[in-house]
Amino acid sequence: MAQDFNTFLFGDLRIATASSGRSDYAHTFGGPHDRKGTSREDCNGILIHLLHRFDLTDPAIPIRIPGVRWLPLYYCFDFRANDLGYRLISDDQLVTYFPDDDPNVSKEESWPDDEGYPLEFPKSSIKIAAYSYNPTKLNDAYQWAGIFGIGNLSKRDQLAAKKRVAKWIDSLGFEAPPETDEEFDEAFSSPFAQGKPDSPCLNPDCSNWKKKGQLTTIALMPAEPVKGIRTFGRMGAGVQLIVRMCPRCYTIRVSNQCD
Ligand SMILES: [Zn+2]
Repeated sequence: MAQDFNTFLFGDLRIATASSGRSDYAHTFGGPHDRKGTSREDCNGILIHLLHRFDLTDPAIPIRIPGVRWLPLYYCFDFRANDLGYRLISDDQLVTYFPDDDPNVSKEESWPDDEGYPLEFPKSSIKIAAYSYNPTKLNDAYQWAGIFGIGNLSKRDQLAAKKRVAKWIDSLGFEAPPETDEEFDEAFSSPFAQGKPDSPCLNPDCSNWKKKGQLTTIALMPAEPVKGIRTFGRMGAGVQLIVRMCPRCYTIRVSNQCD
């Protein structure tokens, strides 16, 4: 399926896809680091990789960041870090944050493929397209409830969505169906296979630092975002990257989950 190569972008109750192709805007995937603050020296010896680089003046992209035209998506595929945080200072500079409380990381530098993991991904062109999503339609709202919630449905359809998610949780047999608002909020997790991510902003100067559930999801990326480029190596086909942004300080936090 061509859709397997799609990266989804979210914002403003809209969904767009980023896939290989020509565009009037200079969106790219891969290539060298695009600004200061990204080198190994700047990141305590850790190499981070540039994935997509979006021109936010393209109206097809539903994401805006004050004072920033070029939005780069970076991630650290070195297993010494699971999550990567960064704040864009300008189109020339960013600062990175590496969580220091993650126990599930390796001590030594290691990569998804033991040999031949590229220092940077080959650069290619990316195009953006709108993706059908109507927050007032039950099926659409349900499918993307983990990102946009179900607040734009009619009361009747909200009730139908709650019944559907309760039935689904019940059928899994692991836990009791949701009852409170909080439990329902957690249950509406699609498209996140491992539940809605809720880790906090990584910027220590932000009021959302250490505060869970505040970040909004701006992108979901498959393991093979461009045909032939397997970011998590030969064995990692089912790993997705989740890109979230803090609505207060615009710090970005990228984490991974298995589908
Ligand atoms: Zn923040």
